[in-house]
Amino acid sequence: MIDTAQLEKNLEALEGRIARACARAGRREADVQLVAVSKLHPPEVLRRAYACGIRHFGENYAQELRDKQAALADLPGIRWHAIGPVQTKNAKYIAKAAHVFHALEKLEIAAELSKRRTGEPLDCLVEVNVAREASKAGIDHGEVAAFVEQVRALPNLKVTGLMTMPPLTEDPEAARLPFRALHALGQRLGLRELSMGSTHDFEVAIEEGATLVRVGTALFGERPA
Ligand SMILES: *Cc1c(COP(=O)(O)O)cnc(C)c1O
Repeated sequence: MIDTAQLEKNLEALEGRIARACARAGRREADVQLVAVSKLHPPEVLRRAYACGIRHFGENYAQELRDKQAALADLPGIRWHAIGPVQTKNAKYIAKAAHVFHALEKLEIAAELSKRRTGEPLDCLVEVNVAREASKAGIDHGEVAAFVEQVRALPNLKVTGLMTMPPLTEDPEAARLPFRALHALGQRLGLRELSMGSTHDFEVAIEEGATLVRVGTALFGERPA
């Protein structure tokens, strides 16, 4: 399990890289939120990250999110980002525990989230399959506007932005055009938040307008199996 000193070191290095990417793009650091992707790491690791100042955590699995939220409920100001796909039967855990859902791509899930949500509306990002890969989650570029309209009719969700996972490649530069396309689509639809970039390509994502970067490995090291 990663110790606090190593976490501090990784965080400092990561924040430096984020700051330099912002500087290259002429952007303000305050406009880029680091989401620490903590999936598969035990709650104790998140507690250490919290002690280093991290407040935004990203989790992929609905039940794991539910369990960690309960285990860490004593930490004020913690913000939970659900970043992975979810099945209808597990959507209730996200509706209850998450502050932001990054992977909205099905109306059925949207309806279930809205039905189960109480209190503040759930901020949602629509996942877009920018590169139109057959194997990938996400909505095709041309269908996003209509989908957003349908989600807007639901009372307890708020569409705040878009998310994408670019094709897996060796070269982070390969993600630049997909990120740029997501940014252009967000502007056209008046959606401010852009969740894009992970350990491999977050600097390119920031240069192309990311407002949320989802970084796991660069912060926590390799995930436990
Ligand atoms: C796991 C995951 C990440 C983080 O990946 P790293 O390479 O560890 O930074 C980001 N986004 C999604 C959707 C993920 O599932």
